[in-house]
Amino acid sequence: GGPLGSLGKSRAKFISAEETTGVTFDDFAGQEYIKRELQEIVRILKNDEEFQSKGIYCPKGVLLHGPPGTGKTLLAKAIAGEAGVPFFAATGTDFVEVRITFLMDAHRKLLEKKSDSDFFSMQMFVGVAASRVKDLFASARSFAPSIIFIDEIDAIGSKRGGPDLGGGGAEREQGLLQILTEMDGFKVSTSQVLVIGATNRLDILDPALLRKGRFDKIIRVGLPSKDGRLAILQVHAKNKFFRSEEEKNTLLQEIAENSVDFTGAELQNVLNEAGILTARKDLDYIGREELLEALKRQKGTFETGQEDSTEIPEELKLRLAYREAAVAVLACYYPNSYRPFTETDIRSIRSRPNLRCAEISGKVFSKKSDFVNSIVHACAPRVIEEEMFGIDNLCWISAKATSEASRRAEFLILQTGMTAFGKTFYRNQSDLVPNLAAKLEALRDEYMRFAEEKCSSVLNEYHSAVETITDILLEKGEIKAEEIWDIYKKAPRIPQPPVPP
Ligand code: ADP
Repeated sequence: GGPLGSLGKSRAKFISAEETTGVTFDDFAGQEYIKRELQEIVRILKNDEEFQSKGIYCPKGVLLHGPPGTGKTLLAKAIAGEAGVPFFAATGTDFVEVRITFLMDAHRKLLEKKSDSDFFSMQMFVGVAASRVKDLFASARSFAPSIIFIDEIDAIGSKRGGPDLGGGGAEREQGLLQILTEMDGFKVSTSQVLVIGATNRLDILDPALLRKGRFDKIIRVGLPSKDGRLAILQVHAKNKFFRSEEEKNTLLQEIAENSVDFTGAELQNVLNEAGILTARKDLDYIGREELLEALKRQKGTFETGQEDSTEIPEELKLRLAYREAAVAVLACYYPNSYRPFTETDIRSIRSRPNLRCAEISGKVFSKKSDFVNSIVHACAPRVIEEEMFGIDNLCWISAKATSEASRRAEFLILQTGMTAFGKTFYRNQSDLVPNLAAKLEALRDEYMRFAEEKCSSVLNEYHSAVETITDILLEKGEIKAEEIWDIYKKAPRIPQPPVPP
């Protein structure tokens, strides 16, 4: 850490202006428009007075949101690095954590001794989050202009009165109120403290945080496109050895094409892993083989975050294979010309099907029938599981499919105005008065019944294709789109009666 080390009570990490964070905008690749917006903010932050005399003020707060590993922390550090101002980094959970462990401790003692004094000390700690927030802002203000970065701000800034997932609700609420007070408290005439928040749960943030004068700049940091992935790979390949610049470019291009939905952190992992494999083989340069092996490993550990492929139990493997086969058959039945599927495997346990798709190409144009088909498609894991293992022997695979299908049905009914429900947009179910809620339920049940029956009819018709794909998945662990299409087209079909809409 910096000269102050970790700051007393607030536990935030402090990095002085002299050290800066060593990170610049060059370290972040892809999504150029994000950099342009943030560069603007850095300019204002650096030349505070000049801009203020023109009536231009730095935003008080910038909220970066998007999936983990997309470079939000990196961007926050780059802002500090570029502006050359002190940087205070904290995590939302820092503010609440201690109290929760303390509470558990006190609770245990309470049960053992039932003494009043323990209960008293338990009460004393309410408000710790608020005082930590206060501390952090006071330190940052004394070094202004400076930056406060709060990662996982949802841990402290989730909707008040919402479900209390992490415990310590009252505590968190006070911490949140303190953030709001601190942000409202800055006077525009004094030097700036810029607050940068990061979250992957924008949906659960308290709306008060997003109001003008608080986090008034909201920037989405999304998954990189193919060009973005190539640029990120280039950044992280800088300190790696390749046979030639030319070979490096061709190889990175190939990796970029085959890493749809990867985050920056995952791409960085691929290169690091390739470097390790190269060293292990005692080679001087990273080659195609090492890169492809590293890519494969990263795909396998995707989401589960596990090192290597830990053995998946045989029964689960069989269920995963059936799930993938069913989903693949539905993908052939309702082909998506904008986003064709490319391959699937049973090497990792993911809540959603592993079937991978190409990037969206061309202008997407979805009709009502596409929405309905997508509900049918989402039912596939449940329908096949019921068919193969019996209704009393379903597992979480079915539960996930059911919730996904219901979510899609609700979206169609509430948010598109395309159904008998009516032409009004409703944000969610809680917007509905009771009799509308009943109407929603009835209509959703109708869509779900149709989707299940239709899906079941498709899977019965193509049952032999499902079995063939399952066998290949169990044997080889993966299967490519061409092979799936081939099986689907050649499979003997069992005609089914039409499903009434
Ligand atoms: P987040 O805060 O969004 O979870 P991080 O900033 O912690 O993500 O990203 C982890 C690492 O992944 C970064 O330190 C960086 O090395 C790499 N990374 C992520 N996104 C990018 C990007 N767009 N360009 C370059 N590197 C990236």
